[in-house]
Amino acid sequence: MQKALDIFQEITQALLADEQHNPVARYIPSEKVYEELDLKLSHDGTNMDNFKKSLKELVLATPRTATNAFFNQLFGGRNETAVLGDLLAVILNNSMYTYKAGGPMIAIEKEIIRNITDLLGWDSNSDGTLAAGGSMTNYKGILMARDAFDPEIKHKGSRPGLVVYTSEESHYSIPKNAAFAGIGRNNVHKIPADSMGRMDASLLRKAIIKDKAEGLHPIMINATAGTTVLAAFDPFEEIADICAEYKIWMHVDGAYCGSALFSDNYRHLIKGANRADSYTVNAHKMLGTPLSCSIIVVKDKKHLHESFSNDASYLYQTDADDFNPGKISLQCGRRNDALKFWALWKSIGTQGLGALVDKQFRLGEVARNYILSNSDYTLYSFDDSIGICYNYKGIPARDICTALYEKSELMVGYGSFHGTEFIRFVTINYGNDEADIINYFKQVEAFVEKEM
Ligand SMILES: *Cc1c(COP(=O)(O)O)cnc(C)c1O
Repeated sequence: MQKALDIFQEITQALLADEQHNPVARYIPSEKVYEELDLKLSHDGTNMDNFKKSLKELVLATPRTATNAFFNQLFGGRNETAVLGDLLAVILNNSMYTYKAGGPMIAIEKEIIRNITDLLGWDSNSDGTLAAGGSMTNYKGILMARDAFDPEIKHKGSRPGLVVYTSEESHYSIPKNAAFAGIGRNNVHKIPADSMGRMDASLLRKAIIKDKAEGLHPIMINATAGTTVLAAFDPFEEIADICAEYKIWMHVDGAYCGSALFSDNYRHLIKGANRADSYTVNAHKMLGTPLSCSIIVVKDKKHLHESFSNDASYLYQTDADDFNPGKISLQCGRRNDALKFWALWKSIGTQGLGALVDKQFRLGEVARNYILSNSDYTLYSFDDSIGICYNYKGIPARDICTALYEKSELMVGYGSFHGTEFIRFVTINYGNDEADIINYFKQVEAFVEKEM
């Protein structure tokens, strides 16, 4: 093991040093990747020197997500405390199904969940679990909604007429999960968004009334805290009113910006979201822990047991159900995603997590102010958002983003809203400061001047 740790140390040092000068990895077109790197597996192994060389080249050629040039997706940065926690989790290699196999790691997972439910104002009847990403925690939400509507489905198979509602701006995992759950993609009714990208609650109500009149069964409304493109927040209070009136499960997809929960300054953006039945949040997005760390909490823990519990006497031999989270999880063997988040939370506290969230909103404001003060730019996104959407000099967004990538300048992506395509710049890396944000724009301007 010592030898492996030495190699780890050596390669990591080389990466960190190189990132300082080259925040974007050299671009290798996918058609060339097998030629340029030694990736092929063969019948015989390789000697240690070759192995080390190939591994190092591979690491150095991989996209860099922790630098101040990565604005491509909804994560970024490298929090050293959280990384430390994750490295230890790998060395320990526990599986999180039982207390017998996970020991106190089960307790820290429960501690995380309890603190999140406390922030939502939920009582001790609430609970939660972690799964491999927001798509999967959302999946758990839809399965619980389905089983709460009709507990027979999990035994007998699905039935026609089940309907899920979500905004047209919500994440694609909702229809995908509806397919997995036997509800069907076509039975996800997409509700139009208003001019600011929030679900239109009056159209939601109309859709439900119409569907019920046709004999359909609304089983879940998905409300989003941080839509994928504009990072908008749905009107949770109005949606919660509708859910209460029609007795429909309310799920909040907070994978992206549900972490506003941690900030005293921005919690108002999710006002009403705590009236939901289930709430997901990704600590690997706004909270900067390594991928993946996604949590779902449920107001009434009985739903976790009703949807996910299977008896397995070979597995559950000791300890109370409470300390055997395998009984409420999607997987059997499950990675310890709790330690990295616990390490971060333990070290900086809840107010520290809130400060990380605040910083991202502040960086978003810096970006918006820059755009608004320069007539070469058009802004499409709104206040209180960490997804800043804009166009520059009328140049097609995808042309700029692709050229920046191919020239190894910057990693940024594009999106669209109500038919307009634009660059989507995300200020989720709280390792950046205001100068990094301004520098990003200056770099794009110089690049366009020179290359386009
Ligand atoms: C990222 C995201 C997801 C999916 O989370 P993964 O961890 O990538 O699976 C779901 N919903 C929203 C709103 C997201 O931003």
